[in-house]
Amino acid sequence: MTEKLTVYGAPWCPDCRRSKQFLGEMRVPYDWVDIDQNPEAAEFVREKNDGKQIIPTIVFSDGSFLAEPGNDELARKLGLTMKAERSFYDLVIMGGGPAGLTSAIYAAREGLDCLVIEKSALGGQAAVTERIDNYPGFPDGIAGNELTDRFIQQARRYEVELLSAVGVQSVRRQDGYLVTATETGEEYRSHAGIVATGSRYRRLGVPGEEDLIGAGIHFCATCDGPFYKGADELVVIGGGNSALEEGLFLTQFADRIRFLVRSSELRASALLQEKARSKSMIEIMTDTQVTEFRAKGGKLDAIVAKNISTGEEQEFHPQGAFVFIGLTPNTGFLEGTVELDQWGFVATDATLQSSLPGLFASGDVRAGSTKQLASAAGEGATALIMARQYLQQLGDVPAHTQAS
Ligand SMILES: Cc1cc2nc3c(=O)[nH]c(=O)nc-3n(C[C@H](O)[C@H](O)[C@H](O)COP(=O)(O)OP(=O)(O)OC[C@H]3O[C@@H](n4cnc5c(N)ncnc54)[C@H](O)[C@@H]3O)c2cc1C
Repeated sequence: MTEKLTVYGAPWCPDCRRSKQFLGEMRVPYDWVDIDQNPEAAEFVREKNDGKQIIPTIVFSDGSFLAEPGNDELARKLGLTMKAERSFYDLVIMGGGPAGLTSAIYAAREGLDCLVIEKSALGGQAAVTERIDNYPGFPDGIAGNELTDRFIQQARRYEVELLSAVGVQSVRRQDGYLVTATETGEEYRSHAGIVATGSRYRRLGVPGEEDLIGAGIHFCATCDGPFYKGADELVVIGGGNSALEEGLFLTQFADRIRFLVRSSELRASALLQEKARSKSMIEIMTDTQVTEFRAKGGKLDAIVAKNISTGEEQEFHPQGAFVFIGLTPNTGFLEGTVELDQWGFVATDATLQSSLPGLFASGDVRAGSTKQLASAAGEGATALIMARQYLQQLGDVPAHTQAS
């Protein structure tokens, strides 16, 4: 997507935060202009809106603009495909990350009609990973978005139908078919389905967090780190591999990176710990639990944290906070329909089939998966082969696919 946008808004405006979050999820680059800090920009917004100060006002590279658009309107303007061509498919794949896209490539090559439904932007978590050094075939490593763009191009080459900005709301079995309902109000029937909806960043669940997401609190350093170029201090919350990797990435933007870690020691690999400790600009505070985020003018003002052993409370005033405390599976839409493990990941049998017949699961969302890109792609291929065998048993698979 080459569109470059400018979002005019203010930090206290919830619709501005929603639009920024949507653009972030769709990985559409944009410039942010805070009209409270820029009288000329405020005047520009009034000129565009017949004297009214409507925010967000989003200006596109061709000069056109949208005033206070809903996410649907914004998605249409960005040219995203949100409705499938048909209502029936051999296979519906939920999630367009590495696992889902690999299943789609295999399905299309085998002549199965398949539809991929992706809630945000295609590519999944891998697309927002700065660099991937352990995916086979790329001896010098590869940028996450470049790798997933290749997955997407390959799926497009086989004419897979790919929807983005469309979340799956529920899946059920009805009259012998799987029925996948979307948040946009559509229903798609299929013989089989694959859940590949991955996982997302876990939140702390402390006061102030929800309101400040996108306004000082972030979950992706690659996406939002550049906003803090020249910052005095950024805080990273968490002490695992992701926290250290992302924190090290943030060192290029700020003078100081402070890690707040709840446990008494870091869980990250020894190599990452060594890298972090070798940088004098990094301070690591263990036994430190964040209890609250405080706002001023709609932006993050303070992080309140407690020392677990002494009970002492401290306040920090970084420009931004990045939370990396683990992953939660994206399975809310399956609750009550499909058996999940104690953490909410999809339980499967040896054929990757879930407790709902004809519904398979692969990648990070599957209980027992290894949460690695190469495994996600591998499981995507396996799930498709298992789904194809299931379709063959039903007698619903095109004959020419049965030989491969
Ligand atoms: C910061 C970071 C760094 C990483 N670095 C590496 C690395 O160096 N090497 C490595 O091997 N792995 C790495 N990983 C892990 C790797 O990215 C994942 O294992 C991989 O992306 C999993 O693929 P997936 O397709 O199973 O899930 P995801 O990539 O999570 O894709 C799932 C997709 O499903 C979509 N979705 C969610 N809910 C719904 C819904 N209701 N309806 C429709 N769609 C939905 C999501 O938007 C997402 O696009 C990293 C992960 C992170 C977060």
